[in-house]
Amino acid sequence: MSKTAEFLNKKGYTTKNNKSFTPVSIKGILENPVYTKADMDIYKFLKDTGAQIYAGKSLFNGKNGIMAYKKTFQKPGKPNQKLDMAKWIISIGQHEGIIDGIQWIQAYNTLNTPIIKNDYALLSGIIKCGLCGSGFITKKRSDRPGFYYICAKKCGIKNLPGQTADETVLKKLKPFLSKPFLNLDILSKRAFIYEYIQSVIWDGVSLNYCVGNNIKVIDGDI
Ligand SMILES: [Zn+2]
Repeated sequence: MSKTAEFLNKKGYTTKNNKSFTPVSIKGILENPVYTKADMDIYKFLKDTGAQIYAGKSLFNGKNGIMAYKKTFQKPGKPNQKLDMAKWIISIGQHEGIIDGIQWIQAYNTLNTPIIKNDYALLSGIIKCGLCGSGFITKKRSDRPGFYYICAKKCGIKNLPGQTADETVLKKLKPFLSKPFLNLDILSKRAFIYEYIQSVIWDGVSLNYCVGNNIKVIDGDI
């Protein structure tokens, strides 16, 4: 984003307020669905995240652009705070959309997921240790294909077999996953999961998932 901002500034472009672009303003543009076509992918995504949609499903025909209200709120003297997507109010504008829904979803998710280096562990950044509260790192198995989630503080909790954990969580989320999910890259998949589950806690015996302040058991012994 800083490179994009730099590029635009060098070319002499300015924001609508005649200011220079910054990484923050670029992120704001990418996260704004106003440029996105109101199509079925974005309809499903917004609906899944709990946004309030004030337009009939049939109007999501891929032509006009999205309007999203209540994306931020402002306290006096403080910078704008982002509001949860569940609080967004969505309608369809008079303007033409230019970006496909799935493209916007990928960009949004990529921008809003913790940066994790590995490209195989679905729950990286989401899974936490039930003993010490720390995050998990991953380690590839040396004896055969596969990997483990390991407590980053090595507090002594049992290592968690990676694939089993990923599959268990995916199975639980299956009813909420839309078709585009399968086409997403791993960053977007993580972000998608993160939209539903704030954290997954491994207590050494079972996987528990945390939605808001509620903790529920996903599965028994693993
Ligand atoms: Zn631990």
